[in-house]
Parts: sequence; structure tokens; C-alpha cells
Amino acid sequence: MLRSRFAPSPNGPLHLGHAYAAIVAHDLARDHGGEFLLRIEDIDGERSRPEYIAEFLADLAWIGLCWDGPVIYQSARLAAYAAAAERLIAMGLLYPCRCTRAEIAAAATAVGPDGPLYPGTCRARAVDLAGAAWRLDCAKALAFTGPLEWTDKLAGVQHATPEIFGDVVLVRKDAPASYHLAATLDDAADGVTLVTRGADLFAATHIHRLLQALLDLPVPVWRHHRLLVTADGTKLAKRRNAPALAERRRAGEDGIALAMALRAGRFPAGISLGPVLHTLT
Ligand code: GLU
Repeated sequence: MLRSRFAPSPNGPLHLGHAYAAIVAHDLARDHGGEFLLRIEDIDGERSRPEYIAEFLADLAWIGLCWDGPVIYQSARLAAYAAAAERLIAMGLLYPCRCTRAEIAAAATAVGPDGPLYPGTCRARAVDLAGAAWRLDCAKALAFTGPLEWTDKLAGVQHATPEIFGDVVLVRKDAPASYHLAATLDDAADGVTLVTRGADLFAATHIHRLLQALLDLPVPVWRHHRLLVTADGTKLAKRRNAPALAERRRAGEDGIALAMALRAGRFPAGISLGPVLHTLT
């Protein structure tokens, strides 16, 4: 059975881009007699704000989407994230790191999809564990798994290249798991078979595929859809250029009609679908 999910982070209001993403996930599940889950990715430290969550639920209902089963909260799963991190530590694949962003930026010699590439400063040195983040030793992990592939429904079979991100953080200083670890574990725990999300997360899937191989998790299929962009090609962002769904809802707009328009590719003035596969800023 096909099972998809929509996984918003409560660090700002939902906008049209989220509505589009939720509709993609919802409709693929419904078209295949599958299930559509709603997961709140609420472990992002201080950026996670509970007051957004009730708005998210109301926004989704407003555009006519209902989800199967109870709403899933990442904050209820911290023990599972910690257990997975312990397992990777026991495998010798994580190392503690206390470098600051500024230190990394100063020492980096290359840039990855998320910014300056971590230069491996802490990989082979003793680090005080108090308040340290834990990074995945990517080369060691790949030596452990061997070559990996994953499939995007739109782009086809991909050779996994997690090394383009360098040694990513899996356990943050301020949160029990990074997005990569939490989302990968959750998709497995929730039995998600089709991961739909925006094309801006295409490259992140290389890391997720590696984590699946390391942790013996099932491998779903992905579908990275085009993002909604403004006239200058910038993706919609929570605070920058996208009116919140909640504002539109409160202004009395017809949410069902809006959802039908998005499905038909009729976007509000100045908004269109971005490139097929592209990392947008
Ligand atoms: N929580 C992520 C976001 O709001 C989505 C991650 C995903 O779908 O894998 O961008």
C-alpha cells in the first residue's frame, strides 16, 4: 500500500508552497487507495513554536485535506533518535564536534549544498563531549555500506553521493537529532513508501539513503516535486514573500477552490512552478 506524508516544521506559518506540497502527497495517496500521514517536525530547538501547529491543522482542513491516523509529533520520538545515534556511535561512525559555524566557515575549503563543507577538524581529535554535536564520518560510512542507489519517481535511479555534504551533523548541540536522522527514522517507523517533498531537498536524499543502509531501514521511493517560485525565481519562504495560508483563510478565501486551482496549475499572479530539479536558494 502506498503511504505518503506531509511533514511541516512549525517554525513559521504555512504558505502556498506548503499547500502545494501537501496536496501532492495527499492526492498521490488517495489516487492509489493509500494513506496520507501528517507529521509535525517539531524538534528544531527554539525555532519550533507550538502555536503554529493548530494553525497547520486548520490550514489543511481549509484546503480540504484530511490525514489518516493521529498527527505524528517528532518531539514524542526523541528516545528512538537517541537509540539510533547510539547505534551509529557503537559502529564507530559518529564523532563529536564542537566547531562553531564561524570556525567551519573560516576553515572550509569547499562548499556543499548546505554551505561551507565541514573540513573534518574534529574527526581525529579528542573532544569534550559536553554540548558537542555528533557528525557522521561519511567516508567511513560509505566504506561500510558500499555504493548505494535510490529512485526518484520523476528523475529516475540516482547513485547516492552523500559525500557532497561532507560529514553532516546527526545529533545537534541543541536538538536530539538533525533533520536528516529524524526524518529518515520517522519515514521508516511510519511505513512511508513514497516520500514526496520539494526539489530543494533532492540532494538531502543521498544522506537519507546512506542512513537507511547503516540502520537497516526499509527504502522508500521518492518524488521531489517542483517548488513554487516568485517571478524572480526565488522559492516561497515563510517570512519573506509568501502570504500565510492562515491569513488567506481568515480573510474568507475559499480554500477548496484554492486547492483546485493549485492542482490545475493555476497559481496566483507572480507565482509559478520552478525548475524540475534544482537547488534553489
Ligand atoms: N520539515 C521539512 C520542511 O518543512 C520537510 C522535510 C521532508 O519532507 O522530508 O521543509
